[in-house]
Amino acid sequence: MAEKEGAARRKIAATGLMKKIMADYFYELDAAAKDPDGRVAWCTSVGPAEILRAMGFKVHFPENHGAMLGASRMAADAIPRANAIGYSPDICSYLTSDIGAHLMGVSPISKTYEGLQGPVRPDVLVYNTNQCRDVKDWFAYYAREFDVPLLGIETHRGVGEVTEKHFGSIAAQMEGLIEPLEKVSGNVFDVGELKRVLALSRECSDLWKAVLDTASAMPSPLTFFDGTIHMGPAVVLRGTQQAVDYYRALLAELRQRVEDGVGAVEGERFRLYWEGMPVWGRLRDHSTLFSDLRTCVVASTYCNSWIFSAFDPSDPFNSMARAYTELFIVRSDEAKEAYIRRMLDFFGADGIVYHDAKTCPNNSNNRYGMPQRLEETTGVPSLVINGDLNDMRCLSDEQTNTNIEAFVEQLEER
Ligand code: SF4
Repeated sequence: MAEKEGAARRKIAATGLMKKIMADYFYELDAAAKDPDGRVAWCTSVGPAEILRAMGFKVHFPENHGAMLGASRMAADAIPRANAIGYSPDICSYLTSDIGAHLMGVSPISKTYEGLQGPVRPDVLVYNTNQCRDVKDWFAYYAREFDVPLLGIETHRGVGEVTEKHFGSIAAQMEGLIEPLEKVSGNVFDVGELKRVLALSRECSDLWKAVLDTASAMPSPLTFFDGTIHMGPAVVLRGTQQAVDYYRALLAELRQRVEDGVGAVEGERFRLYWEGMPVWGRLRDHSTLFSDLRTCVVASTYCNSWIFSAFDPSDPFNSMARAYTELFIVRSDEAKEAYIRRMLDFFGADGIVYHDAKTCPNNSNNRYGMPQRLEETTGVPSLVINGDLNDMRCLSDEQTNTNIEAFVEQLEER
């Protein structure tokens, strides 16, 4: 049997600061919704948040709410409610959790933050289909529900090399958002403000990348599971000084761990790469399972999704278009495989765990032979676990645990 010793997972001290800035974020959204001059935009997680922020909107991200519903296990009751009005159990369970929760009038926001009711009403909805089509259908539901404008960017998919042909058309669509957003916000677009916000977003991205890169140290000072929690500000507060300040503090703590030789998982024996979505309803269980096996899941494609190294304030629209098209999820399998090979090498991974998320084919890269091709070219063994991001009906805990233990045992034998 794989060695299971109940190893301790080290807590990150900056977590308290993160909780505070996330709370401030939700209270600011609430204040904007109550202010007659305030404006709220809903945006997809890798949508053009910088444009919205620069135009004076406070920005809510329904995917963040979806993840909160999953982590709080409120998704279980919410999903069937959305299914009942025609949103299939086979489509994105963020979407079905979020719409179901809306129909039920419940939210983890009201459970966590005193005095808050849940997601604030939008004045406009803005999506980018760079990640999937589900976000467009999801936002279309709310456009009908709240009778507010729905704006969006239709992007390329399966992109190999990103060229001007790709990002030129996206940049034009981004510029096309300005006029309708001016109408909703009542503010005149100021390119200087966009450059300022983009510079902050780039700084946030660089710091977040540096945080994740600390996991290349042996032992790793953080795990994938820490990353899924601490990525919150990079998702919802990119483009703000608060996010930059937070990641400076987190990076300093993790670099100190590296200097002191302190690992996130005590007695780290194996290092794994996670490909796919987290299982939000099992985050703590999975984190404990791996650390008990003295195995650190050091890195993931998922947490890297909020790294936008192409952002360039001197060329805002083109550089945003490039950054939001260069993302892993937008790319061809060849580009994805080259990326994972670089990650395995950089993080010194002993194996890969692919999470085949039933309701998100877009983040399940195991379905067309990729694990086999990568194993052949890298020699790094892989394991596929079946599950889902939010719909726990798609998961067998017993099977997952047995498969992970057997995989670690296989690593021991190697
Ligand atoms: S990428 Fe997947 S999880 Fe994210 S919104 Fe689209 S279908 Fe849902």
